[in-house]
Amino acid sequence: MPGGVNSPVRAFRSVGRTPFFVEKAKGAYLYDADGNRYLDYVCSWGPGILGHAVPSVVEAVQKACENGLTFGAPTEKEVELAQLIQSCVPSMEMMRLVNSGTEAVMSAVRAARGFTGREKIIKFTGCYHGHSDGLLVKAGSGLLTGSVPDSAGVPAGYAAATLLAEYNDIESVRRLLEENEGQVACIVVEPVAANMGVVPPEEGFLAVLREAADASGALLIFDEVITGFRLGLGGAQGYYGVTPDLSTFGKIVGGGMPLAAYGGRRDVMSCVAPCGAVYQAGTLSGNPIAVTAGTEMLKLLIAHPEIYAQIDQSAARLEEAYRETGLTVNRVGSLLSPFFTREKVRDYQSVMTSDTAAFARYFGWMLEKGIYVAPSQFEAMFVSAAHSAEMIDMTCDMVKEYGKSGMIL
Ligand SMILES: *Cc1c(COP(=O)(O)O)cnc(C)c1O
Repeated sequence: MPGGVNSPVRAFRSVGRTPFFVEKAKGAYLYDADGNRYLDYVCSWGPGILGHAVPSVVEAVQKACENGLTFGAPTEKEVELAQLIQSCVPSMEMMRLVNSGTEAVMSAVRAARGFTGREKIIKFTGCYHGHSDGLLVKAGSGLLTGSVPDSAGVPAGYAAATLLAEYNDIESVRRLLEENEGQVACIVVEPVAANMGVVPPEEGFLAVLREAADASGALLIFDEVITGFRLGLGGAQGYYGVTPDLSTFGKIVGGGMPLAAYGGRRDVMSCVAPCGAVYQAGTLSGNPIAVTAGTEMLKLLIAHPEIYAQIDQSAARLEEAYRETGLTVNRVGSLLSPFFTREKVRDYQSVMTSDTAAFARYFGWMLEKGIYVAPSQFEAMFVSAAHSAEMIDMTCDMVKEYGKSGMIL
């Protein structure tokens, strides 16, 4: 495997270490093959909002397995999951289940192009939308970590149809819409940017994007693969009160299994085959085991909405501890990032003022204390309901101790 891993950030290259290999996980802890235990603030990059190996999810999956692992035919369970998603996110009038966030965003963009008959799309520098060709332009996540601004192997023609705007800079969007009048199919955005570290949308940014999209005839796509079911049951669109035309979900919605969803306006989604001419398919789409895990996860979240206040509070306490160290901290709900810079972080440019060598020292120090944060400055810290008050206390103490170590910046 390239780098020994199946997804680049896992290789720990940017923090100059070799990765631990996980043997098992339970609640807030990961256990590696060398017998170490880590308090986990990565949570599989988001899905683990209730911690690892949630008993009722595991049980439901075990039971479902007995009835067969895949059918390639529709099941009632898929309808149930779609209805649960819709009950939480009303803008999802019609949707498709797919296997990964990458697939969800790729398909949503295709639907937007098919519906509008336009080819260009606008994305934001530092936002990550999976690894499909047209979206690997100035993307975040592992591309920032490895200092690869664009991937090799992406035809220039694909990238040319992707126009780049700056996050939190509405003028950059207006300019592109003007210069490409009548040609922009969609604006795709992470409503809270969380793949260059956490960068919240500034007051009004999402609402103005909505207006700009409407005025130009472009569709607005919220990539809620991270924010969906994390900022609340209604995702970022519920949190900020701005409704996109299409949305994508992943991570939490699969309950730890490979499942994602895209959907939105009925008229747009009616363009997808077999109803319309936009082709999108999948042998394992709506896989019964993945659907079971997702359904059980959403049922738990719907039954326990109080966990959102709990994880928000936990994250707020961590935020405070990081702030005491003098670092810049951004937080939205249970997503946060300490940035190794003293500058305010509001876009890609300010994110890049971070001292990644200082981050790597901090990462190693925390890991040796048994605390696992994402092995990159450009990923979010994920707080789960399995993080108890005592675990948060312990983490805050460690952060403060690190702050006093004189190694911060
Ligand atoms: C993780 C992520 C994706 C890609 O999802 P995969 O399941 O890794 O393909 C897309 N968009 C955002 C915002 C993400 O965080």
